[in-house]
Amino acid sequence: MSENANDRMDKLTALCKRRGFIFQSSEIYGGIGGFWDYGPLGVELKRNVKNAWWEDIVRRRDDIVGLDCSIIMNPKVWEASGHVVNFNDPLVDCKKCKARFRADKVFTVIAADQNGVVLQAGVQADSAEQAREAASAAANSKTRRKLEHAADRIEWTVFRADQRPEGQVCLCPNDGAELTDARKFNMMFKTFVGAMEDSSSVAYLRPETAQGIFANYKNVLDTSRIKLPFGIAQIGKSFRNEINPRNYTFRSREFEQMEIEFFCHPDAADEWYVYWRDARYQWWIDHGLTSSKLTLRNHEPDELAHYAKACADVEYEFPFGVSELEGVANRTDFDLKAHQEHSGRDMTYFDDQTKERFIPYVIEPSGGIDRGVLAFLCEAYAEDEAPDDKGKMQSRTVMKFHPRLAPIKLAVFPLVKKEGMPEIARRIYQDAQATGMTAFYDEKGAVGRRYRRQDEAGTPFCVTVDGQTLEDQTVTIRDRDSLAQDRIPADKVVPYVRERLG
Ligand code: ATP
Repeated sequence: MSENANDRMDKLTALCKRRGFIFQSSEIYGGIGGFWDYGPLGVELKRNVKNAWWEDIVRRRDDIVGLDCSIIMNPKVWEASGHVVNFNDPLVDCKKCKARFRADKVFTVIAADQNGVVLQAGVQADSAEQAREAASAAANSKTRRKLEHAADRIEWTVFRADQRPEGQVCLCPNDGAELTDARKFNMMFKTFVGAMEDSSSVAYLRPETAQGIFANYKNVLDTSRIKLPFGIAQIGKSFRNEINPRNYTFRSREFEQMEIEFFCHPDAADEWYVYWRDARYQWWIDHGLTSSKLTLRNHEPDELAHYAKACADVEYEFPFGVSELEGVANRTDFDLKAHQEHSGRDMTYFDDQTKERFIPYVIEPSGGIDRGVLAFLCEAYAEDEAPDDKGKMQSRTVMKFHPRLAPIKLAVFPLVKKEGMPEIARRIYQDAQATGMTAFYDEKGAVGRRYRRQDEAGTPFCVTVDGQTLEDQTVTIRDRDSLAQDRIPADKVVPYVRERLG
């Protein structure tokens, strides 16, 4: 990460802790790597992301239904899906410090000019480009100067630990010592069901929500009278024993996914794939990821999983690099076929108009809620200036969330704690709450400070009850982003805000 990006990430994580968006799990005991808790503001933000997705995907469409499956399923599900055998990450260990890394996430970067090696380092990254940037940024200033001055003469060699070229050595990101060759490690968390702890009672915490959907495909088909093409959507926790959880909540061991399995005729799959790829990309833009940091990347044919016909990633440029938010794949009939074989149950679909029987193809948009929340936090974070109580410009930190996702929609302040202002302000606050809107009442301290606190929480609208309210029942309503202040009737506040939530 460059110094600037590092600084930005530090400021964001500090704000998240200070304002109660995200806490380290079991922090009072020193925390536990890869697990995070969402505080009062964070849980509202996360819930709003989930609700927005559920409303758009399930409630506002008539071709998708919802599902909520158990986290622990019959282990045969994971045999059929291939997770017991294939859900492996190649691992490497440092021969000196014994640290362990995912081999596909650790790179060795070598920069050389005509006089020899200028820089040689191991770094954790998601891509070769990220690795090169990270290694350059972490180098000492003398090396950085050399790299800059001789930029056009430098030859770069960058390789992943599981793709080590003959004769090269992979280096540890911690101490630069040699790494071992890659070995396999299954990422599913194991547990035991019932009193016996033996191989007959082994079960797994699900590493994805998708398989619960496939396992219930027939149940849904038989009970909801839905016809192809149709989708089943689920939001839920998934667990992966990631070797190097890192980049804040980005790579966690416990996280939430929002997944759709969209079933269609094989001949229509290419079209539905393009539809879902573009629709999902647009959804992230519509919810505030409007900068050039959001991109859609089609996978190259050699990147595709053996069962996938096409795949694209919605990627976001986090301060620590460009990484996946959501993947959209044409998984063909691979999953249903596998479950048909392993369970012995018929997974075919009968089209009573064409009299055709076939196993549907599946288009899968699979997104991470925690990664989504992190992207929204990164995009929303801004520093600008706003006037204080005396009209003097002061720097402020503001979270510019899309109003639909903002944890608190409306804050209400009486200018002073007397002359009936608190009573009017409380009434507006309670009216907002009665409609299900998250609102906040604050009567403490200077109004300027109250605004600042709401700016940091990302509250799009603040209402102030003042002397004029007592005369004409109007209040000022301040817009978080433009800082414009409108005067509107007190009894119009709630509809005014509702209209602008998007
Ligand atoms: P990565 O390559 O980053 O490990 P993946 O391709 O294995 O991700 P998928 O199996 O496609 O991820 O999972 C779908 C979505 O679930 C991802 O796009 C991501 O948003 C989310 N996700 C996967 N693993 C994690 C994790 N460890 N922490 C948080 N979110 C995750």
